Amino acid sequence: ALCVSQDFDFFYFVQQWPGSYCDTKKSCCYPTTGKPAADFGIHGLWPNYNDGSYPSNCDPDSPFDPSTILNLTSELQSNWPTLACPSGNGTKFWSHEWEKHGTCSESVLDQQGYFEAALSLKKQVDLLTILQNAGIKADGGFYSLDSIRNAIKEAIGYTPGIECNLDQSGNSQLYQIYICVDTTGTNLIECPILPNGRCSSSSVEFPYFGDTTTTTTT
Ligand code: 5GP
Ligand code: 5GP
Ligand code: 5GP
Repeated sequence: ALCVSQDFDFFYFVQQWPGSYCDTKKSCCYPTTGKPAADFGIHGLWPNYNDGSYPSNCDPDSPFDPSTILNLTSELQSNWPTLACPSGNGTKFWSHEWEKHGTCSESVLDQQGYFEAALSLKKQVDLLTILQNAGIKADGGFYSLDSIRNAIKEAIGYTPGIECNLDQSGNSQLYQIYICVDTTGTNLIECPILPNGRCSSSSVEFPYFGDTTTTTTT
């Protein structure tokens, strides 16, 4: 018999800065479970092809089943909060991520494994601490893309993808960070291709997200 093949080449592990999601013209809504910590949050673990294209919604027969992640709920609420409006408890975001992306890596990670892999990667790559240690703080200041990229590269050994969005005044700001992961969902790798980051200047804003005690302690 043929081996089970996994029909993708690598994962993007994508984390978002809540201050930048909320600081756009569209604004945001805090989860029903409370304002997230001033930390990067998981956006998703996305199967991808080496040419930059990606599969999506791969298995309509595998709908999100919250019962598979009941024991992960509080960890997901803290580390994978939803900021879309209207406010939700996260289930809709996690369901969207599983159905759009997770179903495309089902040959490697089942639902529980998919969410566990993402949570484990978040622990492995503590972006806020990495940036803080390099003097890059969520203080509303501007930082060079090179300094952000280099700080992460020094800490994890691989070059990250950096994506920007625009604040309400049109400034380019640090929105999402992409780290590449092998097809097992556990080992970091050099990115086969970096995403188009849409950062329109060489210096980008790193906006506040409240709670200065968590963002400025050393
Ligand atoms: P946006 O249009 O905001 O960049 O992306 C919308 C959605 O498209 C993302 O939430 C994600 O689901 C998907 N997406 C965008 N870029 C990529 C990519 O490079 N790889 C994968 N796997 N999905 C992506
Ligand atoms: P993508 O399709 O790009 O993987 O995920 C984006 C989708 O998830 C959008 O439909 C968006 O409304 C929803 N979503 C829910 N909560 C969040 C959030 O906190 N951040 C982002 N980027 N999208 C969210
Ligand atoms: P989606 O397809 O994920 O609903 O949303 C499309 C795009 O709009 C994504 O790039 C997502 O990040 C953004 N988006 C969706 N909902 C919100 C929101 O409530 N606030 C903000 N700032 N962006 C959103």
